[in-house]
Amino acid sequence: DAKALQQAQDRLRERGIDVVRLGYSDLLGAERGRDLLVRRFARTAADGVAFCRSVFATSPRGDVIDIEGGLSAGLPDVLAVPDVGTVRDIPWEPGVAHMIADVFDPDGTPSQESPRTVLRRVLDRYDGVIPVVGPELEFFLLEPDSGAPRGWRRYGEGTGRVYTAGSVGDPENTQLAWLRRLDAYGLEVVAANHEFGSGQFEINLWHSDALDAADRTFRFRTAVQELARRQGKLATFMAKPFDDDAGSGFHVHFSCRAPDGGALFDDPTGQDGLSRAARSAVAGILAHAPALAALLNPTVTSYKRLGPGTMAPWLADWGLDNRSALIRVPPERGGATRLEVRLGDASVNPYVGIAAVLAAAHLGMRDGLEPPPPLEGYGYDAARAPRLPSGLASALSALEADAELADVLGPRFVAAYVAYKRNELERFARTVTDWEFREYA
Ligand code: GLU
Ligand code: MG
Ligand code: MG
Repeated sequence: DAKALQQAQDRLRERGIDVVRLGYSDLLGAERGRDLLVRRFARTAADGVAFCRSVFATSPRGDVIDIEGGLSAGLPDVLAVPDVGTVRDIPWEPGVAHMIADVFDPDGTPSQESPRTVLRRVLDRYDGVIPVVGPELEFFLLEPDSGAPRGWRRYGEGTGRVYTAGSVGDPENTQLAWLRRLDAYGLEVVAANHEFGSGQFEINLWHSDALDAADRTFRFRTAVQELARRQGKLATFMAKPFDDDAGSGFHVHFSCRAPDGGALFDDPTGQDGLSRAARSAVAGILAHAPALAALLNPTVTSYKRLGPGTMAPWLADWGLDNRSALIRVPPERGGATRLEVRLGDASVNPYVGIAAVLAAAHLGMRDGLEPPPPLEGYGYDAARAPRLPSGLASALSALEADAELADVLGPRFVAAYVAYKRNELERFARTVTDWEFREYA
């Protein structure tokens, strides 16, 4: 409201902040927004900051895709309303504070295409129970090299392996510098390490309630891309940037807190120390896995990450401390009892990915579903569990067919997402790749 905005403006001015960067997520999870002068912040933001609805329907290359109420309706405005509690000073941009916006349609209702709205909508279903999420993101850091196949080589190429510490795998100490900067930005990062891939890193975010965790993941991706760009590098969250190297995962650690504060997934007397709710959450995620793939593995490239020998899943299965399963139940119990959903890759929209996992788990718990026995051993034996979709097209069909999931996420969002992604597939189908030229020329 007007008073909260004015108070925020006054406090920003007292701290010497002169610009607010007001950001929101587009359909893909990339940040869009505007820089607003603090001097006029309360006035500018009073009725929401208008922007064109095409944000939820433009490709990274600028094609505008027709979604309901979009192109064919003349691309009307939507309104970005700052969530003033999300304000954080950007440490590498002195004088600038960042805020996240919720997006509203002109009639004052939350825009269903807005990824933050989708997550809020799912959270409403939890009805007093608090889903707690700890996100992990992997990414590759690349340096320009005109001799490299696509103009980029892997940073520190060939020097680092998984958990290689210090400057051996990270000659410029980038990981260390970024861990500190991201912490100063208030992202509640906990740890950083070199990953399996050359030039591949992982940074873990501390767990918190799902909306806050999604906000921090959203900011994290922008921040890492920005920090890289300032060093003339490229941080890519592509699912699998190189044929011959690891993919980049987005693992979601997930548990639930009961209204009385208790750990809902823990039960020392239950099978494997898990509660009925935890088992049903597992079952819900597995039951909806094909549709979840469309949201957690959102690109053409995503499906090249999944499969044998990758530590990314291939089947809709779960296991106790098993990294080859779609859901790993880490060994800790008590308050740390949780699921690690390993399906997603780093190209995910964090709001949508977290919303999707929570929606499927909610359906499992609501219906008291029981999971199959946990996987033992290697998770790539196709006889043991249903296969995940092999590509984006079949995943989108599974999403369209999953009316229950769409009902929780919002049918208008799912329709827009599918329309957008089908257009992406069409554009890909018209593109001749390097592989085709090598194979057929
Ligand atoms: N890079 C793997 C993935 O794509 C995960 C490796 C790990 O467990 O850290 O999910
Ligand atoms: Mg990892
Ligand atoms: Mg992990």
